[in-house]
Amino acid sequence: TIVFLNGEFMPMAEAKISPMDRGFLFGDGIYEVIPSYAGRCVGFLPHLQRMESGLQAIGMPLPMEIDAFKSLVERLIIDNGSGNLGVYIHVSRGTDVKRNHAYPINIPQTVFAFTFEIPAEPVADKTLAKAYKVSSTQDLRWKRCHIKSTSLLGNVMHFQQGQDAGNNETILYNQDGYLTEASACNVFVVKNKTILTPPLDHQLLPGITRMLLLDILKQHSSLQFAERAIHMDEVRSVDEIWLTSSSKEIAPVIKLDGKAVGDGKVGDIWLAAQSLFCQHKYNY
Ligand code: PLP
Repeated sequence: TIVFLNGEFMPMAEAKISPMDRGFLFGDGIYEVIPSYAGRCVGFLPHLQRMESGLQAIGMPLPMEIDAFKSLVERLIIDNGSGNLGVYIHVSRGTDVKRNHAYPINIPQTVFAFTFEIPAEPVADKTLAKAYKVSSTQDLRWKRCHIKSTSLLGNVMHFQQGQDAGNNETILYNQDGYLTEASACNVFVVKNKTILTPPLDHQLLPGITRMLLLDILKQHSSLQFAERAIHMDEVRSVDEIWLTSSSKEIAPVIKLDGKAVGDGKVGDIWLAAQSLFCQHKYNY
């Protein structure tokens, strides 16, 4: 694996950062994962724009121009074989001399990027789709979930709850019982043929896949959809549940807490939505 660290490309084994890096000590950084298939990225610009707004929220600028990120991502993809790759980009506040909570002034940010293999490009096919089983639990993360922070312990712990229960993911609800998202995905449901997802606020990440899907539905389909609060009581009786993320696109969920979702099979609206996504995703 060839990686990028602070302006240079090198083999992963040669990439070294200081243990005094604030990314390591405090989880003080922002990251992105951009999917690419055979050298083509999905949503490069929206991913970089989200990174810029996340950095801004924690008092940092984007460390390089978007065009410089574009060249670096293109080069990393080529150097790593141009297959099915997730491009991970991480910007931390940099390496300080002391461990001090206050933001240091004028130290260079640490910029790290690498690629990793992701599953083959998703296809709209009920028999080939990976059907997910999920747990649910109260969302115990912080109140700034709209920031794609590298401090992921809350997400990691929730993800592990699902694993420990023999499931693939964990969907989360707030203290009033309303769906927020999953530990590493956004959540959509289908009720009476209408596609629903919670509105954006501090309780969930503004997922790029979520945004592309909503835009594709609006531009290219007559399927009904809405962004609105969804109580877990409602989630437990919907016809379909989907998880969305950059590496999964739209993943159908067939079991929630051990009970079948709808008829327990991958749904028809999922099929329609994933086909639309396949058709239009490279326009972003
Ligand atoms: N929510 C969380 C907590 C995530 O970590 C992710 C990232 O994969 C998502 C949602 C989905 O976002 P995206 O579609 O931008 O990958």
